[in-house]
Amino acid sequence: MSIYIMEQDSYVQAGKVAGEVREMVRSRDWTGKTVYDICEWVEDQIRTRGAKCAFPVNTSINEIAAHYTAEPDDTLTVKSGDVLKVDLGAHIDGYIADTAVTISFNDKHDTLVQTAELALQKAMSLCSAGTKASNIGKAIERVIKSAGFKPIANLSGHSLDRYTIHAGKTIPNIWSFGGFSLSEESAYACEPFCTYSDGGGFVRNEKTKNIFALVNRKRTKNDEADSMAQYIWDNFNSLPFALRWLTKEFGDNARQTLDFLVSKKVVKAYAVLVEVHGKVVAQAEHTFIPQTDGPLITTYANK
Ligand code: MN
Ligand code: MN
Repeated sequence: MSIYIMEQDSYVQAGKVAGEVREMVRSRDWTGKTVYDICEWVEDQIRTRGAKCAFPVNTSINEIAAHYTAEPDDTLTVKSGDVLKVDLGAHIDGYIADTAVTISFNDKHDTLVQTAELALQKAMSLCSAGTKASNIGKAIERVIKSAGFKPIANLSGHSLDRYTIHAGKTIPNIWSFGGFSLSEESAYACEPFCTYSDGGGFVRNEKTKNIFALVNRKRTKNDEADSMAQYIWDNFNSLPFALRWLTKEFGDNARQTLDFLVSKKVVKAYAVLVEVHGKVVAQAEHTFIPQTDGPLITTYANK
């Protein structure tokens, strides 16, 4: 047997939720909506279906490749002409489904968006147990380059573990040396990112950081900070969270207290990732469990 049956059930349940929500996101016109409203709506859809959010919904627009989530009161609004990536995660008892869709509100970027989807489809056709991750990267790169675009070399898919989104193994988006072979005892996410051929094909860290995670449980001798750390552990475990998720409980002081926890290295802050040449980026992502006859794609959903 592959993965313990109880774990597989939870992965599949989480994937069903995430896949359904992703397809709802894909079918909607988000122009004129704020990223705050989009994040809150998507997170609500995940919770309504009986799962928890595995991380704050990422709403990354145009040259922002990943890791942007809405701040409380974020007024950033999706415009006609934008390319919006929505990356969402659901979990059941810590078993995570991680999936993403790109929606183009500008015809001229449609081919870029379709190419990310094609690269993901091609990758999925290869993801049986025993497949070398380097071969998946090679296939992703080939699909993207033959369509005239460029893969983002320093973003990649990853193994998943209970309450852990990036569990140590990476599935590259380009051809690379070495690596590992897919195991039927693990879940993975595959996520091709692509940009235009005059893009750099890399992302860099922005100054903005609005996704966080608890990295240790040491006390700070500040009661408010210690109680926030406890709240984070109780509600999000070591999974990523957003300031939005703390303001109801901790009010106007939430940001200050969170900054303090970051300064004490109890909480880690993740930088927004932007394409180095400022070119538009598209992404597609599925979570799957490799099997001998192909992947069990947990986040698959009929479109
Ligand atoms: Mn993702
Ligand atoms: Mn991922």
